[in-house]
Amino acid sequence: MDYDKYRQLLAEKVETSFTQWDEKKIIQESELYRFLHTLKGTAGTIGLRDLAEFCSAHLEILSSDDDGGIPVSSLKNFKKSIRSLANGNQTKSQEVLVPDVYVNHFDEETFILLIDDDLEFVSFVKELLEQLGAQVLVAMNGTRGIQQFYDMQPDMVIIDMYLPDMTGLEVFKKIGDTASDRHVTSILISSENNNEIISSAYEAGMMDFIAKPLDLELFLPYLFNRDKLRKAISQSITTDGLTGVGNRKRMNEMLKYSEKLFQRSGVPFSVIMIDLDHFKSVNDTYGHHTGDEVLKAFSKMATEAKRETDYIFRYGGEEFVLLISGDKEEAYLFAERLHKTFNEMIFKESERSFSVTFSAGITEFEGRLSMLLNEADQALYQAKRTGRNRSIVFDKDIVEVKRKLQVIIVDDDLLIRTMLEEELTGLDVPDIELSVKSFQDGISFLGADWYDPDTNFIILLDGIMPGMDGLEVLERLKRREDANNILVSMMTARTSEEDIKSALWLGADDYLMKPFQNNEIASRIRNLASRMF
Ligand code: GH3
Ligand code: MG
Ligand code: MG
Repeated sequence: MDYDKYRQLLAEKVETSFTQWDEKKIIQESELYRFLHTLKGTAGTIGLRDLAEFCSAHLEILSSDDDGGIPVSSLKNFKKSIRSLANGNQTKSQEVLVPDVYVNHFDEETFILLIDDDLEFVSFVKELLEQLGAQVLVAMNGTRGIQQFYDMQPDMVIIDMYLPDMTGLEVFKKIGDTASDRHVTSILISSENNNEIISSAYEAGMMDFIAKPLDLELFLPYLFNRDKLRKAISQSITTDGLTGVGNRKRMNEMLKYSEKLFQRSGVPFSVIMIDLDHFKSVNDTYGHHTGDEVLKAFSKMATEAKRETDYIFRYGGEEFVLLISGDKEEAYLFAERLHKTFNEMIFKESERSFSVTFSAGITEFEGRLSMLLNEADQALYQAKRTGRNRSIVFDKDIVEVKRKLQVIIVDDDLLIRTMLEEELTGLDVPDIELSVKSFQDGISFLGADWYDPDTNFIILLDGIMPGMDGLEVLERLKRREDANNILVSMMTARTSEEDIKSALWLGADDYLMKPFQNNEIASRIRNLASRMF
């Protein structure tokens, strides 16, 4: 792994801070404290041990809240030391490489969410985890982190203690229940390494505390240990934590059982696949906690309404599967009853009240289990496309409509456009119809008629373009009311730190570093796609 790149970023950041101090002439002690605190975490992680020690030593004598001013002119020697340590001049810094045994150790589906506002640290850890084979998403503040957590359903979440808008513990308060229901590994990290913080992390229900700087010799085995544990737990559990209904594993068992029963005694069975309508906006408007209440209420209502010989399972976030003993007509009638009951339920949040609908796809077992869910899903998709809040029974004469995903490349560099188009056209994403389009600049992209509410979009957006730069395009995209089906990945050069930071602040969902690694884009698109639908 290329540590020099991160050291260069760090050295640049140090210089930027120095310039800002010089302009101010007086710097608050608390600001100096925060500066050293951040620097310590990053420096230690990228192997600049001497610099990390230098920071520690100074942190001990500084105060984090006593707001005394320090004249910048008195910091000459201090700055000189930092500068030379940041450039690795004093001693040769030790390099820790990812051992070969760990390269691609994670499954490609392992999703890790990193909530941390220290960009050098974040990009270092992101690259590290990607080398290990995981997919990584980054959020640079708590609010965004919470949203990403619910939208992308990561397997592991690493949260920094101090974020610009809230503390890591506050973030965890909002996601902790869901994290524990889903057996998500939750880790608090901080360079403030004391018992008070650690115990409050454990009390809040977080699984682990890890100190910055990261000690990779421990961090890597630790990560794989937790990943194994998570897999083992989720394989041994058959009920969904939030709603108490069966989970996917249980569903698969019951489907097999029903298949046997059908083969032995011809008992027909059907499935109803349900997806709540516009659930993202329920979360956005009323909060995730209220969203969770809706999911519980739906499960409870359906559980009470079904017969004893029917079963309900949570299939995914806001998706459920009902296994109905009976033919598709019976299943349809039951689904209609559920619509009626559910539509009449009124949810309350503070002073506001609202109701929620769902869409359903129905199919009857006709001998092939492998096709069953796929057929129900196709019918469900039809129900969504034709207006939601309805049930549609699968009909094999209707041509299969796959979910549509369009990747849009916006880049002024013809070479990049051609390369990406070539790599992505014909990329096989299971059950998804993928198309690729490209634009040579932001203005022609925004002016074009590319949007379609029934298609999901992944937009690969170049940071720097003539006319209107990528950040402005991003800002406009994010301002759209209908941005729910748009995911933006910012493409930036390795050195444009501020651009990545601004992009993530403006709500970019992901970023990609140019030059791209072999195959990186294809696997990223495949994974983002499977999480989007
Ligand atoms: P559509 O009608 O097309 O289904 O729209 P939608 O907004 O429901 O679409 P989509 O499937 O894209 O979004 C599902 C959302 O469900 C995304 C995520 O924020 C939310 N979600 C997933 N799991 C949970 C959960 O456990 N709790 C809460 N509160 N929200 C969840
Ligand atoms: Mg859904
Ligand atoms: Mg939905």
